[in-house]
Amino acid sequence: MLIDTHGHVSFNAFKEDGDAVLKRALENNTWVIMPGTQFSTSQRAVEMAEKYGKEVHAAIGLHPIHLEEREVDVLEVQSESVKKEAWMTFETRAEEFDYEKYKALGQSKKVVAVGECGLDYYYEPKGKEKREAFRLKQKTTLALQVKLAEELGLPVIFHCRKAHDELIEFLSQGKVRGVVHCYTGTLAQAEKFYAMGLYFGFNGLIFKKVPALPAPEEIIKNIPLERIVLETDSPYLVPPEAKTERNEPLFVKYVAEEIARIKGISVDEVASATTANAQALFKLGEA
Ligand SMILES: [Zn+2]
Repeated sequence: MLIDTHGHVSFNAFKEDGDAVLKRALENNTWVIMPGTQFSTSQRAVEMAEKYGKEVHAAIGLHPIHLEEREVDVLEVQSESVKKEAWMTFETRAEEFDYEKYKALGQSKKVVAVGECGLDYYYEPKGKEKREAFRLKQKTTLALQVKLAEELGLPVIFHCRKAHDELIEFLSQGKVRGVVHCYTGTLAQAEKFYAMGLYFGFNGLIFKKVPALPAPEEIIKNIPLERIVLETDSPYLVPPEAKTERNEPLFVKYVAEEIARIKGISVDEVASATTANAQALFKLGEA
């Protein structure tokens, strides 16, 4: 059994066939957690999860890229070689984090985490003043979501891009349970997250050579298996073996295989450890 701890099946990319996609995953013994990235996709994730048993859950949060209005190429973090996948460019609409609205949504038993939320300094505006305001807004919004997680007794799914030191500093102010999803920090930064008890999420990005990022092999080799969880970040970051344009939770198996190869252990070992990790972190199996 595998758990995709980060599959955006509540996104429009799955508008027509989300339930069929979840069904395919479940038939292949793969459970799914669907994080929202704004209120609409969080709400939809909860509504979808409510139709299922303990195999499908939701997380609710406001992603930092939804704090500003702009056009975003979600794959821009990767190299030129994957630019062909830039069909996934989308418009973001600015949203303010409404604590009470998210808190009400968080009353559902299907909500197992707050997120994804975090810091993303990739699209920073030019000019010191604008940049500082941009960073402050992200930190303030993140702080509210961490507070909500505390109030609801839930872990946090962190998104972090080009801001790992800032996230480490932010987290060192208190004890937070959670996972740094799609980990792209350095090994030295990983050690700090590890010391704070955080988990690390890996997905199809580990198959891509991104010159600007630390080599995934090096990171994965050095992070103990008991802190790793699997994810797809569907519909993005398709593992090459899936041979499709749209990623989906079922393909988390390729990530398990690659981690097994890198660590020189069996896929079964990766599957059972990462499943146990996800169940412990998100307290799955109850609803
Ligand atoms: Zn995501």
